[in-house]
Amino acid sequence: MNGYFITGTDTDVGKTLATAALLRALLDAGRRAVALKPVQTGCPERDGRLVAEDPTVYSRFTEEYFPGGYPEACCRKFVPACSPHLAAEMAGETLDPDELAAGLEALGHGYDTVLVEGAGGCAVPLGNGRTMLDLMQRLDLPVIVVADNRLGVVNHALMTVETLRGHGLDVAGVVMTNATPPTEGDAWLRRDNVKTIAEMSGAPILADIPHLPGAPVAEVTAHAARALDRLPQPRPVDGGLDFDRDHIWHPYTSALEPLPVNKVRSARGTRIVLDDGRELIDGMASWWCAIHGYAHPELTRAARAQLGRMPHVMFGGLTHDPAIGLCRDLLDMAPDGLEHVFLADSGSVSVEAAIKMALQYMQARGQTERTRLFTVRGGYHGDTCGAMSVCDPDNGMHHLFSGLLPKQIFAPVPDCPFHAPFDPECFRETERIFRERSGEIAAIIVEPIVQGAGGMRFYHPEYLRRLRRLADEHDVLLILDEIATGFGRTGKLFACEWGGVTPDILCVGKALTGGTMTLAAVLATGDVARTISADGGVFMHGPTFMGNPLACAVARASLGILRSTDWRAQVHAVEGWLKESFGPCRELPGVADVRVLGAIGVVEMENPVNVPGLQRFFVDHGVWLRPFGRLIYAMPPYIINRPETARLGAAVRDAITARAHL
Ligand code: PMP
Repeated sequence: MNGYFITGTDTDVGKTLATAALLRALLDAGRRAVALKPVQTGCPERDGRLVAEDPTVYSRFTEEYFPGGYPEACCRKFVPACSPHLAAEMAGETLDPDELAAGLEALGHGYDTVLVEGAGGCAVPLGNGRTMLDLMQRLDLPVIVVADNRLGVVNHALMTVETLRGHGLDVAGVVMTNATPPTEGDAWLRRDNVKTIAEMSGAPILADIPHLPGAPVAEVTAHAARALDRLPQPRPVDGGLDFDRDHIWHPYTSALEPLPVNKVRSARGTRIVLDDGRELIDGMASWWCAIHGYAHPELTRAARAQLGRMPHVMFGGLTHDPAIGLCRDLLDMAPDGLEHVFLADSGSVSVEAAIKMALQYMQARGQTERTRLFTVRGGYHGDTCGAMSVCDPDNGMHHLFSGLLPKQIFAPVPDCPFHAPFDPECFRETERIFRERSGEIAAIIVEPIVQGAGGMRFYHPEYLRRLRRLADEHDVLLILDEIATGFGRTGKLFACEWGGVTPDILCVGKALTGGTMTLAAVLATGDVARTISADGGVFMHGPTFMGNPLACAVARASLGILRSTDWRAQVHAVEGWLKESFGPCRELPGVADVRVLGAIGVVEMENPVNVPGLQRFFVDHGVWLRPFGRLIYAMPPYIINRPETARLGAAVRDAITARAHL
């Protein structure tokens, strides 16, 4: 839908008059325009129908253009003259921004410019914690602010513009009205109001409509028409893609022949909106981190509040409430025994820090020959050097950086599926390695239960329990990388809970901030921290953005959402829906395996898939999935619902049936 959202700085500021006049000016300029209302309250009942007042004003201004009468302009109408949330509540109904947006789109179908006139100001409640801002964000139209030139208007106009921008909305400009007649002595004040609003908001004054008793159509329209030339042009669609292709490196791509990318305009809840307006159901949670969905209002609120206070301050010699609060919450949630937190700026960096902790731990104990890490094949721990050295040696980047990477010790892939009985045979090689080489080993590092980017395998909790036992027997540390699995993804808060195992060092990241920004943490036991710090020892790591207050504040809010919602039930439900919708893929040709654990659904193909081909197919079918290797998988936000999950599954089935993976 193309057009503008028109909001007021308050009720009774002349918004309807300004809307009607703008509509008339647009029609006079040859546009197929219409003005609509999402909600109208104060509608008297006549002949069994509710009569909305504002459209009668639109009608008065546009009679010549709508000779058969003004079209239906309101999505919802209510009798009481009060706030929409209250009117809806009194009628026993609810107002949902998504439904209102869909209603407006239906009413606006066939018009090239739609003016959506809100009710009152931008923070007017719709009920259930939603406001008119939610509807504005959903429609994502440039916003015109109507402000009545009176005492207090500067304050109201500046607050409105600031709030709109803070919610990611484009402010097209301000239309000033003069609802009351000017008094003899206040012309200077009104002039200054206009000047001050323009200067301080940086938003253009689109029109200044004087006080016109009786609101004569031609005169008011003439003033409003001045706005047309000052309105911003519609955003270019797909602008910048050429530059992107020629100059910007995307993950794991060639600079010369990159895979195609889709430009995103916004993301909200479970939906990603592309620049051309297409909406995709998100099955990736942005590489598994946006667990609460995109633009969660509590995360946005936390970010905004912290941004206003202090986006960043160095962590050397300084500390702050966001870090203290977050670390306290993390230790409360984490498995028992973890007592110290090191904040890092990404998952990979947290793995580096964990590895360094293990090495410093052994050095502090005088076991300087223990310099290697033990891990299993099929793992993934990040793209920095230490992390790469423990990634799968065949799938990973070992061959590219073989001169640089430390040589670690690898056992075979844990060949003991999560859902099958445990076969002790799969652990023999691990035991043998420890019998022969434990003197070289500082720590075991693994992803507990789910090997993610290394192959999306789910292995048996008994394997993890045995690793813990082996670590204890041989006096080495157990590092668990829960960067992908932490915060509920597998159905437990931490995947190590499946085995009842507590690590010595735990890495978390990804979902820590609910996918809002980058942050990771390394949690260590008292023993690890005390040993490293004995005799004046210090832990040698300290990135510039360590403990970034903005990220910490958002992470704290994200953990708060986890605590206050029944994420276990959500993840359990998603697990059921994934089984339901991905399960039938088993019958399709070329499919090697289908497996589901928690909010992770995996279709493993027999051969590597055609990533660009599949991606195009998925986008054309309205879903966002990003396969890799032989795997087509989904790790959606926990808030995804059954029909959405069904659409992910249907898209995967259709893609395989259409052979889009070949
Ligand atoms: N460990 C695991 C288990 C991961 O899945 C990832 C990211 N996919 C990382 C580490 C690296 O995290 P980041 O991309 O934030 O550096």
